[in-house]
Amino acid sequence: MTQSVKGMRDLWGTELRHFQFVERMCYQIMGAHGYQEIRTPIVESTDLFSRSMGSTTDIINKEMYTFKDRSDRSLTLRPENTASVVRAIIQNKLLEGNDPLHLFYIGPMFRYERMQSGRYRQFWQIGAESIGVASPESEVENLVLLFDFLGSLGLTDLSLSINSVGFPDERASFYTAFKSFFKDREASFCPDCHRRIVDNPLRVLDCKVASCQTALTGHPEILNFLSSESRSHHEKFQKCLHGSNISFSTNPKMVRGLDYYTRTTFEVISPDLGAQCALLGGGRYDRLIQDLGGPATPAFGWALGLDRLVSLLIKKNISLPSKPRILLIPLGESMLEYALQLVRPLWTTGHSIELETRGVALKKSLATANRKGHSHAFILGEGEKAKNIITVKFLMTGEQEEWPLGEITSRLTKL
Ligand code: AMP
Repeated sequence: MTQSVKGMRDLWGTELRHFQFVERMCYQIMGAHGYQEIRTPIVESTDLFSRSMGSTTDIINKEMYTFKDRSDRSLTLRPENTASVVRAIIQNKLLEGNDPLHLFYIGPMFRYERMQSGRYRQFWQIGAESIGVASPESEVENLVLLFDFLGSLGLTDLSLSINSVGFPDERASFYTAFKSFFKDREASFCPDCHRRIVDNPLRVLDCKVASCQTALTGHPEILNFLSSESRSHHEKFQKCLHGSNISFSTNPKMVRGLDYYTRTTFEVISPDLGAQCALLGGGRYDRLIQDLGGPATPAFGWALGLDRLVSLLIKKNISLPSKPRILLIPLGESMLEYALQLVRPLWTTGHSIELETRGVALKKSLATANRKGHSHAFILGEGEKAKNIITVKFLMTGEQEEWPLGEITSRLTKL
């Protein structure tokens, strides 16, 4: 039998219901903050990603699904969505008359990564981008949105880890100090870090090899080498986070895995997620829009891993707000047509009513309803038809009630 591609999985049942719950809350909170959805293709020209993410990042070097189409164009399944959103903004001139622009997206991303629990080759991200404002306050607005969203899902104990990487032209003196620190203990670093210290020293800081992380103890901190403007930006950012009651800690090693970040970077991790504990990350990317051919425009945003968020909700037993799920059971084939007429107007009221069409015995239908997690059964036989009522069985308790047909909608709403 043909199996799904390694690292790419089907979603259904409980897990999918959690995805849908998160997506519903996302639409609600994004709408409240005035963020509009954007949907971009999942395939882009390969050069979009190589130009935006940096030629020395792991994603570009090892993880992209790149292929040639029938016209020999190099295409790539998107490994992240900020580059695509920026391309869409430039191509469709979305900034004209819409500045500042607040956008969000939900969709699958693709990375050819080593498989682990919580790490997939197709995974889902929700992201929010705030385009056109350079201030620390706009960063905090975007993070208030994030924490309101997490709070609406029942996740109130997550904390933020922040840093600043300044602008590329501010990093020269940091690189000098960092390279000399590296040289003094170079034997302790992995071969990849020996390459990184030459090509892109920041990437040494987020090397995943444990011995490299140990060797980094006491490393020079980038923040101390930045311009006074970047440092005061960072101070104001922290003050504003305090003012908005968002708890955070600073982490001088947190530089994020992509090259386009400028100034503020951040991450939220959850120890409950195990080895793959990163739940989301983001930061400022003031040069990216210009680098991809658009007008010089500051921007800030984050991307959150939906698969990991859902596994966190399930692990923490955060229950979903549940609506009644009903199985309407006509007793015998003769009642089926009547049931179909009766249910039709109810289907337009937004309630979930599945119609049993098999014409099997009541016992079998009730067993199906229990197995499929229905909350109620509506039973419709000759007796009910004669009295203009429906028998409602509460499947959790086994209790039964008789409802007049005219009251079904109002009683359903009260359940
Ligand atoms: P990034 O785009 O690398 O900053 O990732 C943002 C978030 O996406 C991470 O914090 C994870 O929650 C999620 N994520 C990234 N890669 C994967 C993956 N391979 N499988 C599942 N989730 C992922």
